[in-house]
Amino acid sequence: MNDSQADEVMYRPPFEAGSFLLEVTKGCSHNRCSFCTMYRNVPFRVLRDEVIIRQLEEVKPYASRIRRVFLENGDPFALSADRLLHIAEMIHCRLPAVETIAMYASVGNIRGKMDAELTALRKAGFNELNIGVESGLDLALIAMNKGYTAAQAGDALLRLKRAGIEWGANVIFGGAGAGNSRENAEATAALLNKTRPYLIFTGTIHADAGCPLYEEMKQGRFLEPTIGEYLDEEEQFLSWLDLDECFYFGLHPSNIVPMQGCLRRDREKLIQEIRSSRQLYQDRLDERPFRGEEGTIV
Ligand code: SF4
Repeated sequence: MNDSQADEVMYRPPFEAGSFLLEVTKGCSHNRCSFCTMYRNVPFRVLRDEVIIRQLEEVKPYASRIRRVFLENGDPFALSADRLLHIAEMIHCRLPAVETIAMYASVGNIRGKMDAELTALRKAGFNELNIGVESGLDLALIAMNKGYTAAQAGDALLRLKRAGIEWGANVIFGGAGAGNSRENAEATAALLNKTRPYLIFTGTIHADAGCPLYEEMKQGRFLEPTIGEYLDEEEQFLSWLDLDECFYFGLHPSNIVPMQGCLRRDREKLIQEIRSSRQLYQDRLDERPFRGEEGTIV
């Protein structure tokens, strides 16, 4: 396969719309989360220097305007610290205005690095990593096949924080299944209160054909929460969150209530939005969501 070929979709968080997307890997090194179809048929690969340099050379005429780079694809933080530092060098010498190098990363990626390596990466500009933490409850982490426990996630995220690297948490409501919403909300809020992300990106559990969770749901082995339970889970999660200066981004199409705001300032307003939505969904609170593309609530 040709490294320079755009042979798969490149995903990025919505808030990275203004970043220069630099492809340094293909696929995801874990590629086993039960709900994920993003890279199912894309083996994880490391792109060669020449492929990276070619992309950087193409945008060199706009170098003075590029302050932020988002590395692609699924978890480039899986690369060794030495490889990432080399990528940073290639970026900084061609795009000297770059201040931040962000990317998707996993708890497992952090666990594979020493504290001194994390510190060196921060010095080289790596910051504001987007991490699919998903939950602070082991039951949910097992159901989603994340490959780590909540305790391991807590340790890794605190090490990242100590190295000065800020990070945003992706959270998936309903990952613990029906009947466990309160426990999931409480454990996830506790994990984030301890580890203090600068951003929280929320969604609800859903599965497209082609991933293990789709089969689990079809065969009734995994039962997602009802609309009422989802609303309770998010309200409880927000009530337990004890964070300042954290952006709450709840605009993923799979969310029951689309909303966003700054914690702690807007917390009561966000909770109020959930309460108002109970009125809107009053006839469907005991139903499970009917979903369209990307988990959109129909
Ligand atoms: S770590 Fe992210 S990209 Fe990889 S399988 Fe899990 S959800 Fe998908």
